[in-house]
Amino acid sequence: MTKLDVNAPNFNWGELGFAYRQTNAHIIFKSKGGKWDNGELVTEPFLQMHIAATALHYGQTCFEGLKAFRMKDGKVRVFRPQANAERIIQSCEYCMMTPPSVEMFLDGVKRVIKANIEYVPPYGSGASLYIRPVMFGIESKVGLSSSDEYAFVIFVTPVSDYYKGGMSNPVKSLIMAETDRAAPFGTGHIKIGGNYVATVRSSYLAKKRGYPVLLFLDSATRTYIEEFATSNFFALTPADANGKRAYVTPKSHSILNSVTNMSLEICAKELLGWDVERRRIAYSEVEEGKFDEIAACGTAVVITPVGEIDHEVVKEDGSVVVNKHVVGDGVTVGEGLKKLYNTLVDIQNGEREDPFQWMWPANGIEEEN
Ligand SMILES: *Cc1c(COP(=O)(O)O)cnc(C)c1O
Repeated sequence: MTKLDVNAPNFNWGELGFAYRQTNAHIIFKSKGGKWDNGELVTEPFLQMHIAATALHYGQTCFEGLKAFRMKDGKVRVFRPQANAERIIQSCEYCMMTPPSVEMFLDGVKRVIKANIEYVPPYGSGASLYIRPVMFGIESKVGLSSSDEYAFVIFVTPVSDYYKGGMSNPVKSLIMAETDRAAPFGTGHIKIGGNYVATVRSSYLAKKRGYPVLLFLDSATRTYIEEFATSNFFALTPADANGKRAYVTPKSHSILNSVTNMSLEICAKELLGWDVERRRIAYSEVEEGKFDEIAACGTAVVITPVGEIDHEVVKEDGSVVVNKHVVGDGVTVGEGLKKLYNTLVDIQNGEREDPFQWMWPANGIEEEN
């Protein structure tokens, strides 16, 4: 793979999509016996370099995803990296991996952005720099026990807006029969490799059938909504006479605590004056039409409106029926979602003030001179 050339004559930030492109460097930290080194910027391609090392880790691997933006004031800042640092620490602790400190995580993020500063897309392009921290065991061993050695790599790659100039039209979502994502007291709440490989096949099959996103119900009872394969679920109740809604999102041990979801909750409550409910949500509430807008949310796309949910149910005789539920009119993006989307994206781009100091660091990440 060759380095992405942002100075090429036909280069267009808006056409990057969401794909890995090689940049200048990634940063790699290594630990042994529970102690991290100071990290090193490496200019060789990331992907080839580390594959051999990952064969013996018994799935001790976790990752993160966050974004840096070139904001309206021209400065580069990262959206809530402390939240990702705290979450990777939780993932590591659960898997008995040596966690980074918050300071080490932030230091790595800053250094790798500085080394790739020309890959941070310009303000107004709708594109941003996607940052992918990933950690895995690298001790050479065959017995099943926690690795004594880890590599923590952070690489970056510019990505364009999933949907140019706002949100896409609503997508169709599928609840697939006899397919679960996470066990009730398993690992669904942390960002570890095993959760994602578990949905690769079902996501592929769903996509082939015309469903870009898979929705999962709780695996014990298949009654309550959990989340999508790589994004959280939230729903909005219709606006009352004053334009007030409720932002409703599931509470469950086995869902990933999305930074985007937490941030949208705060936008809904503090900036839009809506109610926020984090509670168990029975799928029957969707069927009863309680919500007029439903969406998936996560770092990559912020908000993906969902226009229809198709629920596959296995009958006693083994046959499968599909119960369809259309959300809103199924084809237009709801006003509530538009408001939420614009509020968060405007903070990320510096179009509106940042009342919660989410954008880090306050004075921006400067180019090395
Ligand atoms: C990463 C992820 C999300 C989204 O989290 P963000 O912090 O908002 O990017 C949601 N669900 C799952 C399963 C995820 O892996």
